[in-house]
Amino acid sequence: MTAIILSQAGLPLFVTAVALVDADGRVLVQQRSAHRSMAGLWEFPGGKVEDGETPEVALVRELREELGIETSSACLAPACFASESLGDRHLILLLYVCRKWSGTPRPLDSAGLKWVRPVDLHGLEMPPADKPLIGLLEALL
Ligand code: C5P
Repeated sequence: MTAIILSQAGLPLFVTAVALVDADGRVLVQQRSAHRSMAGLWEFPGGKVEDGETPEVALVRELREELGIETSSACLAPACFASESLGDRHLILLLYVCRKWSGTPRPLDSAGLKWVRPVDLHGLEMPPADKPLIGLLEALL
């Protein structure tokens, strides 16, 4: 898979993101802040996998930085992925489902947070890589 993407679409940029699911089955999304690309869009929290990190380790770090919550790799269930051309790079977005964490999510690196029912994700403006994940996620939850 990676070899195909490399040959056809340039260097992959791996990004991990999470669908945090609460006791009522709702999913957390965060709004990208004004100083970032795609400002105002709602996304699954997450970010780039840095050198030397596994996707799960990157996501545990991102959740600490972006939401102030703690979880562990064992609580991250791989769900689905999407890919999106970024010009000379190719974004590969890996989505995990997490139902167990400690702390209350806070918007430490975003314009806001909201909990939505999976069916209501369809009505949100989301980045192109997140959009195709909605239906896949809905089928899994
Ligand atoms: O948030 P950050 O800038 O680290 O994200 C890296 C890249 O991944 C950006 O291009 C961002 O738009 C993208 N991304 C995304 N969907 C997410 C999280 C990040 O498309 N849920």
